[in-house]
Amino acid sequence: MRQVLRELGVQAHNAAWSTGLEWGGTDNKNTRTIHSPADGKVIGAVAMATAEDYEHVVTKAQEAFKTWRLVPAPKRGEIVRQIGNKLRDHKDDLGKLVSYEMGKILQEGLGEVQEMIDICDFAVGLSRQLHGLTMHSERPAHRMYEQYHPLGVVGIISAFNFPVAVWSWNAMLAAVCGDTCIWKPSEKTPLTGVAIQHIIKSVLEENELPEGIFNLIIGDAEIGAKMAADGRVPLVSATGSTRMGKKVGEAVGARLGKSLLELGGNNAIILTEHADLSIAMPGIVFGAVGTCGQRCTSTRRLIIHDSIYDDVKARLLKIYPNLPIGHPLQDGTLVGPLIDKDSVVGFQKALKAVQSEGGKLLIGGELLEGEGYETGTYVTPAIVEAKNEYTTVQDETFAPILYLIKYSGDVTAAIELQNGVRQGLSSSIFTLNMREAETFLSQAGSDCGIANVNIGTSGAEIGGAFGGEKETGGGRESGSDAWKVYMRRQTNTINYSTTLPLAQGIKFDV
Ligand code: NAD
Repeated sequence: MRQVLRELGVQAHNAAWSTGLEWGGTDNKNTRTIHSPADGKVIGAVAMATAEDYEHVVTKAQEAFKTWRLVPAPKRGEIVRQIGNKLRDHKDDLGKLVSYEMGKILQEGLGEVQEMIDICDFAVGLSRQLHGLTMHSERPAHRMYEQYHPLGVVGIISAFNFPVAVWSWNAMLAAVCGDTCIWKPSEKTPLTGVAIQHIIKSVLEENELPEGIFNLIIGDAEIGAKMAADGRVPLVSATGSTRMGKKVGEAVGARLGKSLLELGGNNAIILTEHADLSIAMPGIVFGAVGTCGQRCTSTRRLIIHDSIYDDVKARLLKIYPNLPIGHPLQDGTLVGPLIDKDSVVGFQKALKAVQSEGGKLLIGGELLEGEGYETGTYVTPAIVEAKNEYTTVQDETFAPILYLIKYSGDVTAAIELQNGVRQGLSSSIFTLNMREAETFLSQAGSDCGIANVNIGTSGAEIGGAFGGEKETGGGRESGSDAWKVYMRRQTNTINYSTTLPLAQGIKFDV
């Protein structure tokens, strides 16, 4: 790992902020040591930003915006193209660091870097497609159209489980839109942020661009809260728990700023009697135990038709005991550790609580000990028979617990259960019956931002808009027209006639 860190420019003690070219804040006494959840070893330490550091970074971002907004969008796209190429050059090292710092398996670490590369490609194309519409004016010799202008400084608050991809979804779109951004990564995974910022620095340097286009600030909730309350940051994109999103949404709303909230999920897969279980099973298991259940789109609930319930349960109970749980960088591992011991406590508490409500633990829930598991962060994924209305099932536990919920009757009963939670991120149905699939996708179907057929809940592509409804926050980022939130929209009417007709035929003779 030392070699990887060296290649990526991550040092033993890293600065509290970077405004692209300049790094600072190392005098800060408040440092945080980052341990890998995989083996508990120290990866590095970071200085935590102070209020003064925050001011410095915001000022730089504001200054850079004045220049960056004037760079033609396709030229901004060219800078993003170069960033994408550098990410390609460093894919292996970055993937390893993501895996080691966060605990997801290497394949997923590499997948996360690939997601960054993909969104760069998407943003490059987008840089020539920031289209507005033209309209026909009701007045003669008048022209009406709309255009999208850069918004300003975009604050990006990210969660630990996707330490870099979520930043790129926001930052690459914001960049082609002409915005500057300030990224506050999770305090649990700041080193991947430091590595990315080194890559950004080299691209800014090579193109003699002003620092302050891409900024990094390392801090905890306090720095995030500053950003949320700061009128100089017109858009705050925050990814994390619903608890955090409510606070950020309230603070941004109080100043009538814009927020893009990507919060917790409570995702379900429906298995109807017409499901093809040969494709459903891998989708369920990847969704439930992949990333050790620490994806916002992880499968938490499995809503199973009573006619196939016992069969599905038996298949799962055959797969779960053989899941390879271990070091995320080791070949063959499919389930890595939880991020920290607090998370293990949360996992065990939820299992206890659901059992006290009447749930039946079928397998898993143990804390692994012994060689290779010394960190106290490795657990066995759990399966619990439960009811949808249990309080524990209604909450998102960010750990590998899969609740089996039985339904009878037709697909509408399953959809009601699927929608019967406060969150609305990802959902899916496995069925070969067209009526069931279309009902699930209809306006009376899934109420989530993501609804899939014959694919699990986990693992979205960057081309679509990503996000969810209800307590998931309503934000959309990544593909489709998600870029519009990073720009301000302006309607223009131009009169090239020799008179001044008023709209709606109003006469106002002066
Ligand atoms: P978290 O809410 O603890 O922290 C997320 C980020 O918010 C961190 O950077 C943290 O420092 C910051 N933060 C915390 N309190 C804040 C406050 N009051 N003001 C401003 N910033 C604050 O979440 P986590 O444990 O890092 O991540 C797991 C959660 O994130 C899960 O609920 C998961 O579902 C969710 N998540 C959602 C998506 C999505 O796209 N919907 C993606 C990834 C993760």
